[in-house]
Amino acid sequence: MQLEEQRRATSVLVIGTGAAGLRAAIELRQRGVDVTCVGKRRRDDAHTVLAAGGINAALGTMDPEDTWEQHAADTLREAYGLADPTTVEILAREAPHAIHELVDWGATFQTEEDGRLSQRFFGAHRYRRTCFAGDYTGREIQRTLVRRANQLGVGFDDDTYITRLLVRDGRVFGAYGFDLEDGTRRVYLADAVVLAAGGHTRIWRRSSSRRDENTGDAMRLAALAGCRLRDMELVQFHPTGMIWPEEAAGTLVTEAVRGEGGILRNAAGERFMERYDPERMELSTRDRVALANDTEIKAGRGTERGGVLLDVTHLERELVLSRLPRMYRQFVDLAMLDITQQPMEVAPTAHYSMGGVWVDAATHATDVEGLYAVGECATGLHGANRLGGNSLAECIVFGRIVGEQAAQWSAALDAQVRDRRAIAAAGEEIDSMLALRGEAFVRPLQRAVRDVMTDHCGVVRTENGLAAGLGKLDEIRSATSTMEIRTDIAGFDDLAHAFDLEGSLLAARATIESARQRRESRGCHTRIDFPRQDERLRVNLTWRPDGSVLEHEPVRAASAAIDALAGGPELDVAGRLLE
Ligand SMILES: Cc1cc2nc3c(=O)[nH]c(=O)nc-3n(C[C@H](O)[C@H](O)[C@H](O)COP(=O)(O)OP(=O)(O)OC[C@H]3O[C@@H](n4cnc5c(N)ncnc54)[C@H](O)[C@@H]3O)c2cc1C
Repeated sequence: MQLEEQRRATSVLVIGTGAAGLRAAIELRQRGVDVTCVGKRRRDDAHTVLAAGGINAALGTMDPEDTWEQHAADTLREAYGLADPTTVEILAREAPHAIHELVDWGATFQTEEDGRLSQRFFGAHRYRRTCFAGDYTGREIQRTLVRRANQLGVGFDDDTYITRLLVRDGRVFGAYGFDLEDGTRRVYLADAVVLAAGGHTRIWRRSSSRRDENTGDAMRLAALAGCRLRDMELVQFHPTGMIWPEEAAGTLVTEAVRGEGGILRNAAGERFMERYDPERMELSTRDRVALANDTEIKAGRGTERGGVLLDVTHLERELVLSRLPRMYRQFVDLAMLDITQQPMEVAPTAHYSMGGVWVDAATHATDVEGLYAVGECATGLHGANRLGGNSLAECIVFGRIVGEQAAQWSAALDAQVRDRRAIAAAGEEIDSMLALRGEAFVRPLQRAVRDVMTDHCGVVRTENGLAAGLGKLDEIRSATSTMEIRTDIAGFDDLAHAFDLEGSLLAARATIESARQRRESRGCHTRIDFPRQDERLRVNLTWRPDGSVLEHEPVRAASAAIDALAGGPELDVAGRLLE
């Protein structure tokens, strides 16, 4: 089938219509720059809409003693020494302005009776600094940004899948993709490109992302364009995701369940947190509870379906209905289970990519000229553990910054380089994908990748397991040559899944190779063969797809003032559990 190839020219192309991409596009339009924003799903339903708990900024509306310096210190402390202090400081300093901007654009965050913005605790924050809109903060932010972008005349192409960044001599000049409905090829020619295409947590069997989100596309696009990836092994596993029904596996069970008194038990009825953290029990930190759940399941003390039990049946029904209404509804809707009568079955679920594309700490420029990365696909802010509520703030703060940077880059460009061969190669890649004939289908291969990552590079990792996982990824890679991709009247989803698989394979390899190199346990990364932190590995690990040895990038020191604020005893997270 010979398909049409459309060409579009725009000053800046933004790939991704979640909070980060939208905020970048808004900044560009506000500066009078022509911008086109593309996403593989509809702009009002990007992954950002799932965010629940809130967005952080040291506004001090509830706790006037809060400061941006303390926000920076809390972020650094939670990152186990691997966050970049410059990135952290910019985030903390600019977050209050970002919130005010959202409010000016019509975002309706919760307020107190006197009109102050309400702020609540969220994980290991010293003060209440998380703004929220009920349990739907992400949706409210997404709605606000889409509305603002529409008002400003941002150009959108929804349902457009980007398969390649177009690069010549280390400088980006656009991207190539196709329309998911009718397969029309799209060549975008641009002075600068902002990559805001999300993370890679969907490459595990249980993930809090939906099916075709966070499949590692951003990492593949960037790496094949010549960018380094950084700290790909650092993935946050949320301790409690649903395990059945299959199609809902991984869906988050909010930490508020434990906050309200939910008890974790293994299949023998044992309250096992007594062995892992006898003081804080179920209110222990996210990484410790995830590790405890994983250990119980792997040791054969889990349920038949492979989970542990999270029980609220001892709580008053009215309390469950009033304090956990969303969870009550979620289990009724998805599993036909009344959580006031029966325990939930849960297991750790891949939740957030701390690693991703290497960016400059302040500008978020990548290794490729004219290419910027922002949001969950970028790195630097979270180190080895993300502080809840910081990623939405990151999207808004650094979205503005990359918009500004891309605008300046575009204005300063004398001539846009192009390369017909790069465009032709991107087209041929799709042609050869469509020409494949064989017996393998894409979906089972995607599942195979998820199985490998779950079994060999999950919450707990070992050298043998990781090495075996790499071998299995090779087998899946070989099987892709016998894939058959079917496009039909229903659209080009199968082709999109094939590219999702490509992204997942690259992201999986980067994750496992980086996890092998990080021979220590730090934050979210647990190597049971190297159970302690190793000071020599207080570095960021950078990866390239050519199989070369990973490089160790030293982490800069924080300023003395912020370092001092980051000290002190561990915070009690009771009453602070959210997502
Ligand atoms: C259940 C849940 C709850 C959360 N709660 C919170 C919270 O309370 N607070 C907080 O700070 N964070 C929270 N997070 C994390 C936060 O939601 C995300 O990190 C953030 O929304 C990421 O935004 P983003 O703009 O970087 O990417 P996304 O919102 O993931 O958007 C990615 C965009 O890229 C597009 N895209 C991807 N690949 C391609 C391709 N190949 N071609 C074209 N387009 C492509 C997608 O269509 C999409 O538009 C939560 C996450 C989950 C899953």
